[in-house]
Amino acid sequence: SVQRPSEDRLPRYVRVNTLKTTVEDAVDYLKRDGFSYLGQASKLDDLTLKEKNFVRDLHLPELLVFSPKTDFHDHFLYKAGHIILQDKASCLPAHFLDPPPGSHVIDSCAAPGNKTSHLAAIMKNKGKLFAFDLDAKRLATMSTLLLRAGVTCQQLANQDFLKVDPDGPQYKDVEYILLDPSCSGSGMVCLRDNTSPDQDKDQARLASLACFQLRCLNHGLRFPSLKRLVYSTCSIHSQENEEVITACLQQNPGFRLVPLLGQWPERGLEPLTQCLRASTTKTRTHGFFVALLEKHSEAGNTNQ
Ligand code: SAM
Repeated sequence: SVQRPSEDRLPRYVRVNTLKTTVEDAVDYLKRDGFSYLGQASKLDDLTLKEKNFVRDLHLPELLVFSPKTDFHDHFLYKAGHIILQDKASCLPAHFLDPPPGSHVIDSCAAPGNKTSHLAAIMKNKGKLFAFDLDAKRLATMSTLLLRAGVTCQQLANQDFLKVDPDGPQYKDVEYILLDPSCSGSGMVCLRDNTSPDQDKDQARLASLACFQLRCLNHGLRFPSLKRLVYSTCSIHSQENEEVITACLQQNPGFRLVPLLGQWPERGLEPLTQCLRASTTKTRTHGFFVALLEKHSEAGNTNQ
């Protein structure tokens, strides 16, 4: 019988919230709590862990990795906001955007806010972090999560990102945008078996999502001071990933792709190998896609 990659076989990833603690202090606390620290991982196989063993991730410095069944939902460090339970792939967008402390940043489809809190940690709570979401209930959950994580630089708005005016005076210094729009979720391991048998309906849904994603991207690129925009989905479909980015680059010749993390084992589909993909088999994460766009120094130059 075919073995399906199941969620219980993925490592458990824990992002240390550097707004509240340090990686060293979190490691010490966990050691005293009965976990065994094996040091920093140096290869993907080191992320296959047993029982109470844990390591520091090989790509992301604030990430700790535990065995698949470890549950931190009732743990003090989680309840106190010192750790955030976030899949490794979902930590990539904020890590690559890397907005410096003091910068102005937009998280355009932000709830429930794990990437927002990661951005705030990278910004050391300094600067302005505008976060939008259409869904009031998800935004309320996000407010609680950000409070627990000690985030203070955010400005939340229950607003359609597509209706946010890029020329609004409050956004004139926005140089960084994280765009993690609604997607099919086809990379989430727990959803993979739920694909509907109705292929036509699936195709229509994908086409409509891709159209929304491209509109969000084009909208994001209109902010006048924008330097970098990171785009991500938890989809494995090229229609929502490489195809959206290709269309966007054709429509916005002033932007180009930044090559991401040379040692990452899974790239975007040809020819978009500057982008990254993630999967259970190649990266031990949920399925994911990330692209980083930057403005050319000579905007409008189409010869790149
Ligand atoms: N970035 C979030 C995180 O890491 O926690 C997850 C975002 S989720 C993939 C996409 C979000 O986009 C949903 O919360 C949804 O309500 C929101 N959304 C959908 N359309 C939107 C729009 N037009 N403007 C703003 N938010 C939107």
